[in-house]
Amino acid sequence: MIKIDDLYFKPFLSAQEIAAAIDNLAYQINRDLAGENPIFLGILNGSFMVLADLTRKFSHDCEVSFLKAKSYEGTSSTGVVSLGDELDVNLKDRTVVIVEDIVDSGLTISTLSRKLQQHQPKELKIATLFLKPEVYNQELKIDYVGKNIEDKFVVGYGMDYNNLGRNLPELYVQTERMKNIVLFGPPGAGKGTQATRLKDKYGLVHISTGDVFRYNIKNGTELGTLAKSYMDKGNLVPDEVTIKMLKAEVEKTPDAEGFIFDGFPRTDAQAKALDELLASKGTEIAGMVALEVDDEVLVERLLERGKDSGRADDANEGVIRDRISVYYKQTAPLKNYYAAQNKYYGVDGVGEMDAITERLSTEFDKL
Ligand code: AMP
Repeated sequence: MIKIDDLYFKPFLSAQEIAAAIDNLAYQINRDLAGENPIFLGILNGSFMVLADLTRKFSHDCEVSFLKAKSYEGTSSTGVVSLGDELDVNLKDRTVVIVEDIVDSGLTISTLSRKLQQHQPKELKIATLFLKPEVYNQELKIDYVGKNIEDKFVVGYGMDYNNLGRNLPELYVQTERMKNIVLFGPPGAGKGTQATRLKDKYGLVHISTGDVFRYNIKNGTELGTLAKSYMDKGNLVPDEVTIKMLKAEVEKTPDAEGFIFDGFPRTDAQAKALDELLASKGTEIAGMVALEVDDEVLVERLLERGKDSGRADDANEGVIRDRISVYYKQTAPLKNYYAAQNKYYGVDGVGEMDAITERLSTEFDKL
């Protein structure tokens, strides 16, 4: 996810996918207009990249010119098309191809087309890299389309939001601000169980560092072997290793609408690393939501879970108490880290599972 001005955008089409759309457009135009010496008329500012790439794929003689038109302010069409009249080529009896980056309602292109017809070209063709068929509502026929896309506000590859983002080589689509939540609490507080429920409800990606370590242990990876030596004793895996792994997990879903971090951060260094990682993506932690549960309840729950969870660290009361004490020493102080930023939300973690989900949801809704 990236932030442009005050809005958030997520990846939509890669540079390769855009190149494929350009190839598609170029193929159709090469097929139809060989020998016509067409004039490609780019509509500024958005079409400068399309025109540059398209004309390089046109294998015959052609001329290139530009025209300035504008009907967007922010993310919606103003409905008013302003047109610069500075045409520097004579269109009379020429084959003209208007080149657009994107056509949505079609208002700009049809106004333009009417105006250009007055110059009496031999033929006036319309080419657009992207078309939004759901919202296109004009009579005018669009002759060449690189790719149809859904009706979303896109930025990049020449297209802007408040004049920014034109230089991006990929296409991005507007999205909600990411909702990143640290689900916090001591071992046995119910973070994993609740995260599984909440991730579906809120469309978030759940990352449990404990689960990732256990997956690595099960698959006998080097990381798993290393982590196991700490986990079996109830100690924390070193920050360097955990942070690197967490970053890799986050990178696996670049278009996530947000994350529930479960079991991370557990130390001050991890909290700082998480802030830096999210800041580099133009986002941040919305809040830490903590399940508050008494120690004796935790021990009881973990011993119960250990009967069939297969987790070595749940089987033995000594290890359980060590984990709780590691929690108080190294992890619990993170409450202050987030409280200092007004981002700490405590929730009673004792009671019926559904009731706890409700309590957590009340806090999630506020974030
Ligand atoms: P959990 O499943 O969250 O209870 O984690 C189980 C064990 O994995 C912990 O006791 C640690 O040994 C290790 N672990 C999980 N997350 C972290 C983390 N953020 N930092 C260090 N160690 C972790």
